[in-house]
Amino acid sequence: MKTLTCDDYDPNSLTVEVALQRIDRDLQPIVGEEQVAIRSALDRILAENILSPVNVPPHNKSAMDGYAVLGTDLPTEGKVQLAIVGTSWAGKPYTNPITTGQCARIFTGAVMPMGTDTVIMQEQVERQGEMITLSAGHRIGQHVCLTGEDLQTDQLVLITGKKLLPADIGLLASLGIAEVKVKRRLRVAFFSTGDELCSLGEVLQPGQIYDSNRYTLYALLNRLGVDMIDMGVVRDNPQAVETALLSAALISDAIVTSGGVSVGDADYVTETLRRLGEINFWKIAMKPGKPLTFGKIKAASFFGLPGNPVSAMVTFYQFVQPALQRMMGQNKSTPLQIKVPCVSPLKKRPGRIEFQRGILEPDEQGCLVVRSTGKQGSALLNSMSQANCFIILPIDCGEVTVGTEVIVEPFASLI
Ligand code: AMP
Ligand code: MG
Repeated sequence: MKTLTCDDYDPNSLTVEVALQRIDRDLQPIVGEEQVAIRSALDRILAENILSPVNVPPHNKSAMDGYAVLGTDLPTEGKVQLAIVGTSWAGKPYTNPITTGQCARIFTGAVMPMGTDTVIMQEQVERQGEMITLSAGHRIGQHVCLTGEDLQTDQLVLITGKKLLPADIGLLASLGIAEVKVKRRLRVAFFSTGDELCSLGEVLQPGQIYDSNRYTLYALLNRLGVDMIDMGVVRDNPQAVETALLSAALISDAIVTSGGVSVGDADYVTETLRRLGEINFWKIAMKPGKPLTFGKIKAASFFGLPGNPVSAMVTFYQFVQPALQRMMGQNKSTPLQIKVPCVSPLKKRPGRIEFQRGILEPDEQGCLVVRSTGKQGSALLNSMSQANCFIILPIDCGEVTVGTEVIVEPFASLI
């Protein structure tokens, strides 16, 4: 394979969009489901459509503390007196019908007694003993939640492929659903490659650095809710890389590695993959993160991230995360991108899309603006730690001057 090192337009590079399409085309959702209690379903991927088995609310109910009346008794002018004939409590309905000239004391959440359709707030009546007086100005049907107003029986509530969030768990409970079918967890094996890497707990030797990528990857994968298989550090030796890749392929649905995918003499991952499996692509017109290997070893999908810590994170967010989500059976979602003025000048040459690190914050007027975290080297993990968004500068964009609008992708929308 021909390799190029130039920084600008490279005819052999793929755009991010094309790379994403190819990954998407080559991946399938995993097969396998399990039934779990809804408390265990948080962040899992729903494997069935949920239809509401009931109307929500199941009856007409009051939205206020007050008096349930007949809309036909409301005065259009002057005043009207009504007799209080009973009380409807939340959970303890009043079961007799209410007829004209009558009303019932009612509390929030209580069933509307038969015949009534309107609630008058308690602050808006004058009460004398068991009588109330109300004035004009009320609307028929006010302060009542109607049967099925939130959800109707058989209405589609949650669709298969949805990642279940706290509101979904509550929603399921509100429907009386105690268990749901979810996708089985994806199994992801990961390791770092590099002779210079030292694991935590070991003494740093001259020329060594701590292996940070494996810890970043652990955190990123953990957030995604996959089953993780940490395979440690694999040395830059073709036999070690081959053994690690083959054993990872036996126990996982996907393998994520960092390092060893550039064109250095000790970069064995791509070469080994070419022998053992397939490689789909390898250079992307993006910065940071230009080298990325996507392939297959046996039945496992393979993602080889660059070793530089920022490049590894950017490529994870842009490619691996959506790919794993697709394998997990999650429906596609586009991360939130917004346009805001940039208050820092940004260096950029046309030719590659750049994911610079930014801090999105309100200015003095409360309008959102973004500023750069400063130096953008792909080894500067601190820039990722300070940032709360990517500033995405399209391929053709050159330098950015202060005040120019740029696209930002808040990290919060990625995780
Ligand atoms: P590579 O992609 O293997 O050529 O590595 C590119 C750069 O990233 C080198 O400076 C490596 O030392 C560094 N690097 C590679 N792997 C890691 C890692 N796991 N943690 C921190 N830095 C790494
Ligand atoms: Mg290396």
